[in-house]
Amino acid sequence: MPQKTQNIKNYIVFDLEWNQCAEGKTGEIPGLPFEVIEIGAVKLNEDFEVISEFSRFVRPKVYQRLHFKVLEILDIGMEELTRRGEPFDQVIRAFFSWCREADGETIFCTWGNMDLTELQRNMAYYGVENPFPNPLFYYDVQKLYSRLYRDNGKDKPTLEHAVQEQSLEVQRPFHRAIEDAKYTGAVLRQMDFPSVAPYLSLDYYRIPDCKEHEISLTFPDYSKYVSRGFASREELIRDKEVNDLCCFSCRRMLRKKIGWFTGNQRNYLALGICPEHGLMRGKLRVRKSEEGRYYCVKTVRMTDEAGAEELIRQKEAYAGKQREKLCLKRRREKLRRPGGAIFSKEAPS
Ligand SMILES: [Zn+2]
Repeated sequence: MPQKTQNIKNYIVFDLEWNQCAEGKTGEIPGLPFEVIEIGAVKLNEDFEVISEFSRFVRPKVYQRLHFKVLEILDIGMEELTRRGEPFDQVIRAFFSWCREADGETIFCTWGNMDLTELQRNMAYYGVENPFPNPLFYYDVQKLYSRLYRDNGKDKPTLEHAVQEQSLEVQRPFHRAIEDAKYTGAVLRQMDFPSVAPYLSLDYYRIPDCKEHEISLTFPDYSKYVSRGFASREELIRDKEVNDLCCFSCRRMLRKKIGWFTGNQRNYLALGICPEHGLMRGKLRVRKSEEGRYYCVKTVRMTDEAGAEELIRQKEAYAGKQREKLCLKRRREKLRRPGGAIFSKEAPS
């Protein structure tokens, strides 16, 4: 387990509403794609009962018009937001002081994996000091829910959907931060939490700043490694530790049956075999950090013959595409050569 979960005394379930540039991407302020306009949260005790609430509007400062998507779901207009909202730095300070009122260890919970990152982006924009622990572990309740109620654990049902599925009482509309926080808390209370408690998520807003701070976690059925940032993708891919494939269970270094390959330069796959634990599938996702550095999130999990077959098929499909590309390139070059069908014009594609 990445963190001792048995000491947790409180859960802070929070939700944000945000606005984005109404004129689209072109008018977007760098570093602030989403401006927080509401923070809502509930504090839950060990039995997931609500013991305290927090709800504040933020007065918009960056984007002065509501994006049409936000208008569609929010039942509050710009005029009311301006009137009832307070400056972001005031709201965030009040929020953290409310968070600190809890006794014992606290862990943040959100529906989905965006809220913590966007909150920190807003904090950075306003120069608010970041008091979150680093690394920042939290529960993504949507992910826990998917793990429990979906076969593949990859579906991302909406909060509304989950609330309906669990036949929870719907008294207030969704898309108010405080209401969504309450609904998320209710879903959390309803689920078989102990069976998913080891599955903490990690927020990637701040990535490891050096080799010593790189993160290796072991979950019941997979392992995760988060690298430090590199100046380029090539440098990242060349790094020995990034390249290694270790058994998720015994951490033994594995001989690769299929070395890392990719079809899109973002996700790499590999296959290895542990003499004790069998076939292992590695997945390496290349990402770009807030500072524009390249880092990877590598996961290794057990697989079987069928999984290995699938991986081989994927590799073949990729190799086939590469061959096709090469073939087309050669044909095009041939056509352009003097004496070829085309002299100076572009070859038809
Ligand atoms: Zn092993």
